[in-house]
Amino acid sequence: MFKFLKQVGDYAKETVKAAYYIGQGLSVTFNHMGRRPITVQYPYEKLIPSERFRGRIHFEFDKCISCEVCVRVCPINLPIVDWVFDPTLRRKKLNHYSIDFGVCIFCGNCVEWCPTNCLSHTEEYELSVYERHELNYDSVALGRMPYKVTNDPMVKPLRELVYLPKGVMDPHDMPSNTRGAGLFAK
Ligand code: SF4
Ligand code: SF4
Repeated sequence: MFKFLKQVGDYAKETVKAAYYIGQGLSVTFNHMGRRPITVQYPYEKLIPSERFRGRIHFEFDKCISCEVCVRVCPINLPIVDWVFDPTLRRKKLNHYSIDFGVCIFCGNCVEWCPTNCLSHTEEYELSVYERHELNYDSVALGRMPYKVTNDPMVKPLRELVYLPKGVMDPHDMPSNTRGAGLFAK
C-alpha cells in the first residue's frame, strides 16, 4: 500500500513539473504574440530611405567642369574623369565620366566637394548584378533618374519600420494592447 501511494505521489510530482515546463514554453509564445512585428515584407514592401541616405550617385554631365576634385577627395581615387583640352573653347571638354560602384564605399566625399554640384546621392540601393563589371557606371548610367520607392506601383512604401507608430523603433516598449500601424506614404 505504501509503495502504491509513493508511486502516485511521484507521478503527481512529475505531472506538476511537466505542466510547469509546458507553461514556461507557452509563456514565451504568448509573450511574442503580444508584440508587434517589425519585419518588412520585402520586396512587396520597402522602407523609404531617409533624405540623407547615401545611395547610388547621380551625375549631371552638362554641369561637370572636369576639375577632378571628386578624384582627389575620393579615398580610392575612384571617379574616372576623361577630358581633353579644347583649344577653340580654351577649356576642358569632358568626354567620359564613370564610377565603379563595385569599389565605391559611398562615403559621399565626391558629392560633398564637387564645386558644381553635379554629383548627388540618390535613394537607390538595389544595385545587385550578375557580373561585377556591370557596376561600373558610365556617364549615361550615372545620369539615369533615380529610382524612387514611392513611384513603384508594385511596392507598398513604408515610412518607418512597419506596424510601429511614428518614432517608435523598439516593439518591446509598446504595450501589447496598443494598436496603430506604421505610416504609409501618401
Ligand atoms: S562616394 Fe566616396 S568612394 Fe565613392 S566615388 Fe565618391 S568619394 Fe569615392
Ligand atoms: S568634382 Fe564635380 S565638376 Fe569636378 S570633375 Fe568631379 S564631377 Fe566634375
